[in-house]
Amino acid sequence: MKLKDVLETNIEKFGEYPFIYYYGKQFTNIETRKYSNQLANGLKHLGIKKGDRVIVCMPNCPEVLFAYQGITRAGAIIVPIMFMLHPKEIHYIALNSGAKAIITSSYVIGNVEKAIDALEEKPLLITTDMPTNERAYNFYDVMKKEVPPLEHAENEVSEDDIAVILYTSGTTGNPKGVLLTHKNLVTNAASSAKHNETEQGNTIGVLPLAHVYGLTISNTCYLTGSSIVVFAKFDPKEVFAAIERYQVKGFSAVPAMIYAMYSFPNADQYDLSCLEWVGSGSAPLPVSLLHAFQQKFKCDVLEGYGLSEAAPVVTAHIRNKTIKPGSVGVPLPGVEIKIVDEHDQELPVGEVGELIVRGDSVTPGYFQNEKETNKVLRNNWLYTGDMAKVDEDGFLYIVDRKKDLIIRGGFNLYPRDVEELLNAHNQVQEASVIGVPDERMGEEMVACVVKKPDSLVSEVELIQYCQQHLAKNKTPKKIVFLESLPRNGVGKILKTHLRKTVADLFS
Ligand code: ATP
Repeated sequence: MKLKDVLETNIEKFGEYPFIYYYGKQFTNIETRKYSNQLANGLKHLGIKKGDRVIVCMPNCPEVLFAYQGITRAGAIIVPIMFMLHPKEIHYIALNSGAKAIITSSYVIGNVEKAIDALEEKPLLITTDMPTNERAYNFYDVMKKEVPPLEHAENEVSEDDIAVILYTSGTTGNPKGVLLTHKNLVTNAASSAKHNETEQGNTIGVLPLAHVYGLTISNTCYLTGSSIVVFAKFDPKEVFAAIERYQVKGFSAVPAMIYAMYSFPNADQYDLSCLEWVGSGSAPLPVSLLHAFQQKFKCDVLEGYGLSEAAPVVTAHIRNKTIKPGSVGVPLPGVEIKIVDEHDQELPVGEVGELIVRGDSVTPGYFQNEKETNKVLRNNWLYTGDMAKVDEDGFLYIVDRKKDLIIRGGFNLYPRDVEELLNAHNQVQEASVIGVPDERMGEEMVACVVKKPDSLVSEVELIQYCQQHLAKNKTPKKIVFLESLPRNGVGKILKTHLRKTVADLFS
């Protein structure tokens, strides 16, 4: 199946129904197809051909979904970009992908123009909400081209062709363009729906559609005949109101959103009794938060794990089945996992090693980057760079990212253990632990902590608390109090930024 087919099948199977809700507006699945076909036609008239890259860079809105279907129907490749990226980052992606066009909005166009200023071959600009002028075409003008429809190049596309290039957020270095085929994406959306036994219903699209996690949720909605309530930004108040209004049974989020919902003061004003589950992925969910959220909202929190290179979901907890806090669930149907040591030998139950993944949703590699591709793809297995273990029931536990491991005096220390402990402290809002270079020990452990409002907890108290619960060599050497932790567009803590902040503080 190709990306276009998720919408075609949806219409065939479920007939016309409101597919997108967006701040009082709604669009049916048939309207979504009409706009997508018109856009595909318009893009072709502008010279976009099979295999060309088209960037989509704007906050979540219905046009993002029309654009994804339109680009794919024109036979071109979608390059989603988080709208809040710095112009330098957008520049890197526009240059690296060789984009022919950028679909954006007035909110972002200033940054996009700065980003492409130095490019020799400037991509065409299309905005959703500005009249056509010398700077950019208007999205709806492109759609309304009064010319006979062109044959869609989509017909020449196969399911093994590249549908999307997703640039990783660069938490561990320069962003890499993850190639995802039609088959990768559709397989993952279908397996996710099957795994969670997702039923037809309304769900909430608070995750950025520019992130692979958000993208896959929209594909799951097409496949399950569901509707998506789209939000331009995450606001707990609006999310609670939407759960009540649209009788939402479940939706997917990231830990930072789960924390914001949990700590929202007036949640009891809303009737949230319809909510049965919330999915969490993309970063570790503190076990203390999982328990607190489940208790407060009387719904299950289903943690899952994935990465862009696996389109993205690898494992997840299943609705109405065993939940093991701290675990990220079991593999999706059709996804195989193994834990291996540094000699590629499979490790037994309970032992920590690198997680490797195989299946139809695994990427064929990075865009024009053979060196990085060969590092992560070996013998048909994807090397995730995540340290993990599996228990006797097949549940996966992510221990940490290999790159975040702290090697102190020759011993491997996993920041996650210390983060979990600090996150469970009643005066800590959140904590992130990093390694900093140390002459004597090689690396030392530093915990960056955001205190709860009005908390007076001191460094000495927190160090003593860690000493009470952890082995001596696992106790952070230093606690650095910060106002907030640096995060990327999906709320993931940017440890590279933290390491720099801490280095600057002590230089
Ligand atoms: P880059 O690879 O450039 O650093 P990124 O981290 O944003 O960018 P993604 O594909 O968005 O790339 O994130 C995948 C990573 O997120 C995984 O490899 C894993 O480290 C982490 N991750 C995802 N889900 C979880 C989870 N439930 N618990 C712990 N870590 C998770």
